Amino acid sequence: MANISFKTISLSNSTTTTTNAARLGELAFSTIPKIIETPAAMLYVRSGVVPDVTYDLIPDNVTRLLEIPLGSLVESMRNLENMGSYGNFARIKYPIYCPFHDSLVELRSGGSGNIYSSVWTKSGRQELNIDRFKKLIQLIQPTIYETMFDGDTPIDKTTDKRFNKDRERSRRFLENSLNEQTISSNIIIPLVGGHDKRQRQLYLNDIHHLISNNEKKIFGISFEGFHAYGPLTENININSLKSFIEETRTKLIDYKNLLFTMPLLWRPDNVIHGIDLGFDLFSGAYVTYISDRFIILTFKYNDKISSNTIDTEYNINSKQYANGKQSLLLNCNCYSCKNYTQAYIYHLIQTKELLGRTLITIHNLYHYHAFFEQIRESLKTNTWNEYRIMILKQYSIEQQQQQQQ
Ligand SMILES: [Zn+2]
Repeated sequence: MANISFKTISLSNSTTTTTNAARLGELAFSTIPKIIETPAAMLYVRSGVVPDVTYDLIPDNVTRLLEIPLGSLVESMRNLENMGSYGNFARIKYPIYCPFHDSLVELRSGGSGNIYSSVWTKSGRQELNIDRFKKLIQLIQPTIYETMFDGDTPIDKTTDKRFNKDRERSRRFLENSLNEQTISSNIIIPLVGGHDKRQRQLYLNDIHHLISNNEKKIFGISFEGFHAYGPLTENININSLKSFIEETRTKLIDYKNLLFTMPLLWRPDNVIHGIDLGFDLFSGAYVTYISDRFIILTFKYNDKISSNTIDTEYNINSKQYANGKQSLLLNCNCYSCKNYTQAYIYHLIQTKELLGRTLITIHNLYHYHAFFEQIRESLKTNTWNEYRIMILKQYSIEQQQQQQQ
């Protein structure tokens, strides 16, 4: 596997407070010259392709770190076998993060056993035991990957017995990955234990020696077991998880350069809270999720945006845009907004032309990643507090309006 390093850059005291864990970081790879700055969103890949766009249409400001859910390639194992790696298969050299589950696909309960865990694909449940898991990792050759885990711990429905199994199996899968020579580097550890503080602490105690004995192999931490993935995660209140995350961070305080991530459909206001909690890497699946529904991001990620709406987003698949002479968003510099009108994109959707989805995705990718650029800029220039308030205000006004309706 490629050499990769992560280092965090501490911020000056005026930005960080005890309740604010926001931080900047740098990911460096042996295979590509460019450093990836964090906090960053990844570029989500579904079933082996970036949805609706080709690689040359992806806006320049998009972070070139692919998020390829492991399960999404189970059914393409044979193709990968012939090509040697995902990079050869797709002819790209970008680094790859392989989470175990797909942020867009809701999990069902009951998918794990003593020697296997399941991923859900278009054609249903796929069981992965450690051998099949190892084979997939060897085929994809991700730069970073998350190990297999159980995590089947629905809120309010999980018994102590179920929690014990969750911890026992997740630990065994982690040990397996650490012991398998060919896949034993650049590992992201899934932290399980559901919404139970004691269970989460127990799990961290269970695996603490594995972290300290394998510091070189372990790249980061992913907070798992809080949800069953899929569309519902868009509305999770990340602040309700604050105490869980802070407790874990305190326990891992000595490991300064562990990367922190969590799968979620990261709505922009949650991104802000996530950064306050010290997350470095964010799933990019949100862009695909909203683009699939013809939603256009319009929240103001900086002062220069003059929106044609006061909302944070709108749905372009609405009759009122049939004669829209403006771009998707005024003054946006993306390819779609510089070249096409709302009316034309509305027409493309009505006639079911794929180009409609492509133009929407290009705008949303540009907008979402420009947001992350501004986040990093505000952290660098000590204006994070003002920036986070500016974003949260837009979302709270909208939520208030929705409640009044
Ligand atoms: Zn645009």
